[in-house]
Amino acid sequence: MAKVVCVLYDDPIDGYPTSYARDDLPKIDHYPGGQTLPTPKAVDFKPGTLLGSISGELGLRKYLEANGHTFVVTSDKDGPDSVFERELVDADVVISQPFWPAYLTAERIAKAKNLKLALTAGIGSDHVDLQAAIDRGVTVAEVTYCNSISVSEHVVMMILGLVRNYIPSYQWVVKGGWNIADCVARSYDVEGMHVGTVAAGRIGLAVLKRLKPFDMHLHYTDRHRLPETVEKELGLTWHATREGMYEVCDVVTLNCPLHPETEHMINDETLKHFKRGAYLVNTARGKLCDRDAIARALESGQLAGYAGDVWFPQPAPKDHPWRTMPHHGMTPHISGTSLSAQTRYAAGTREILESFFEDRPIRDEYLIVDGGKLAGTGAHSYSAGNATGGSEEAAKFKRT
Ligand code: NDP
Repeated sequence: MAKVVCVLYDDPIDGYPTSYARDDLPKIDHYPGGQTLPTPKAVDFKPGTLLGSISGELGLRKYLEANGHTFVVTSDKDGPDSVFERELVDADVVISQPFWPAYLTAERIAKAKNLKLALTAGIGSDHVDLQAAIDRGVTVAEVTYCNSISVSEHVVMMILGLVRNYIPSYQWVVKGGWNIADCVARSYDVEGMHVGTVAAGRIGLAVLKRLKPFDMHLHYTDRHRLPETVEKELGLTWHATREGMYEVCDVVTLNCPLHPETEHMINDETLKHFKRGAYLVNTARGKLCDRDAIARALESGQLAGYAGDVWFPQPAPKDHPWRTMPHHGMTPHISGTSLSAQTRYAAGTREILESFFEDRPIRDEYLIVDGGKLAGTGAHSYSAGNATGGSEEAAKFKRT
């Protein structure tokens, strides 16, 4: 029987919810492109409930314990004295979410002698040292597509929020003001602007599709070009280089995975290619950007705004400059963990566990590393190596 260690974010400060704002979720049958939603044999939770926090337990306890497995759930994940560090030593499976990532560094993988499966309940397994997983033969899997559309909605919201100056205007209302000039002195329309995405995968393409009705000019850069029919239908301009795209865009959004090739791809040098006053939205991974270069570009006016929900490390320490830099619209890492998304990735986590315990192949589209190499989706979208360096800084965070 296996030991499954699951790291989840804390419950709300007022306690686990006893009621919800809405009674149901819309029914979605398949993802764009035809991939089916998760297909576990059963689930033991009510769709639309809070599953991603520690009391929600991803709805897995009944299933795991009925099958004789030990199930440990904790939010205490950082530092050598954390529960995670202790429980990891004899874990067979580690489940973690990118929103509150249990960093699986090479040192931790070396300590976890029994570890066979690192399962990401969500998308993005950069919190796992993929090179160490490859070397040790640990399988890495994630629930591909579960929250791609959720994130694309967040990107559109953030682009509109920044360009239209929503957050500062909202704050004037809360402060009791009616300061129209203060609100609009930085407010524009997106209509006619040029927007470009770095990567047009599931999220990037969904963002482009959603922005088309706003009559924006749409651009993308990616390692592989989209089919000509898609380019024509959306009126897309493809750029061979990221810098070439930055030079013509008013808004840039990052939608590629973090791996050694993409780490810090936005830095002082590459920011020079942006139009002065461009907006940058990053819901992909914090480490795609050089933290201090972003703050400097906002202070100098090279960027007019920066928004996103991803940071490095996570949780971000209290003194992280992105909390206080000007003209930002940051949230904690939430875009992919709406209640709608949680329902899908909890079901996907269960599907992957069922396959793993019943010795059936895990869907190719869920695989990142398998059999000592990048596999499935991982072989297409990631490069081997490690992007977890510096993650120990997450131990500096203290909850308020
Ligand atoms: P996909 O795998 O569908 O898309 C990723 C795209 O990135 C692919 O088209 C890939 O290209 C492209 N890509 C990879 N490397 C580069 C590069 N060096 N330059 C340009 N393009 C590159 O993934 P999703 O769209 O579903 O998710 C993208 C990322 O978003 C995830 O990896 C994750 O980090 C983040 N994410 C964030 C969430 C949140 O809650 N904020 C939730 C979900 C995801 P190709 O395949 O053509 O090689």
